Amino acid sequence: MSSSCSSDQAFVTLATNDNYAKGAMVLGKSLKNHKTSRKLVALVGPHVSDPSREVLRQIYDEVRLVDVLDSGDTAHLAMMKRPDLGVTFTKLHCWTLTHYSKCVFMDADTLVLSNIDELFDREELSAAPDPGWPDCFNSGVFVFRPSNETYGKLLQYCTEHGSFDGGDQGVLNGFFSNWSTADITKHLPFIYNMSSIAIYTYLPAFKQYGANAKVVHFLGQTKPWSYTYDPKERRVRGDTHEASSHPSFLLQWWALYSSSVVPMLQAAYGDQPFLSGCEEELSQIAHLAPPPMSSEERKQKWEQGQADYMGIDSFDNIQKKLDAFLK
Ligand code: UDP
Ligand code: MN
Repeated sequence: MSSSCSSDQAFVTLATNDNYAKGAMVLGKSLKNHKTSRKLVALVGPHVSDPSREVLRQIYDEVRLVDVLDSGDTAHLAMMKRPDLGVTFTKLHCWTLTHYSKCVFMDADTLVLSNIDELFDREELSAAPDPGWPDCFNSGVFVFRPSNETYGKLLQYCTEHGSFDGGDQGVLNGFFSNWSTADITKHLPFIYNMSSIAIYTYLPAFKQYGANAKVVHFLGQTKPWSYTYDPKERRVRGDTHEASSHPSFLLQWWALYSSSVVPMLQAAYGDQPFLSGCEEELSQIAHLAPPPMSSEERKQKWEQGQADYMGIDSFDNIQKKLDAFLK
């Protein structure tokens, strides 16, 4: 069938910030290491830094800026009505890549373990079951056909019905609502989107089939980049009990990130501050001042309850501001 070569087919991912961009870099590297014959496309949000974009451009064939608020009218209007679905709208943008006939979307927190080009033999919308509710598909890996018509319908669906889980997975399952029953060829085997939740929910199956996994998905709160890594000992630090993944997959992610991605990031950042998450740098940078933060970034942090109580947001500084204001 068609798994030989097609330049009008692509793997697509999304990163709206520098952390998810790290995930996208590792994903792109893993696809290339397993010699995909397809194009690689990264959608990036406006908050991804220039050095991160530069590295993404070295790994991906196409790095496309998506900013819902600046793009077409339908998207803008839809966004105005449902500002809560910001990141979700951004993911739906993948349907606008109409210079490709067929694509496979992959979350930035996935890692490819072997060549998966055979996925392009599948049709829209093919995806693997969600481990939490197997009548829904998990939207971390799915096959789709870019189409402005479908994109418009998706946005319309999104504004009218919202998302039952607040994210893209709820919207997509609502829109492609007959996935679970209509066509078994659209059910991807779980090994194309294996979240190690399976380790905890069905250990014997994981022991039996886990070695066949082709894609690991680090879904859930704690992402690979949330940990620190000791490259010398080849160990991941932090509470790996809570890890959504088997320690060996986490190690594979870090091995690839620290060996292939960190050097590219270091080159791209040059003299600018950059934290790789590898352990030795933590002691080196401890004495350096933190990078200056814009007032907009600081406002966001405050609103997320992450005020810098020991530094710029300390009581002394706030009092000084108040004093100046009262004078
Ligand atoms: N994403 C992003 N920025 C965010 C959140 C999500 O770029 O702040 C993208 C990224 O590609 C990510 C995907 O949306 O992999 C889905 O989010 P996530 O993987 O965090 O959800 P989960 O798989 O844990 O449900
Ligand atoms: Mn994910």
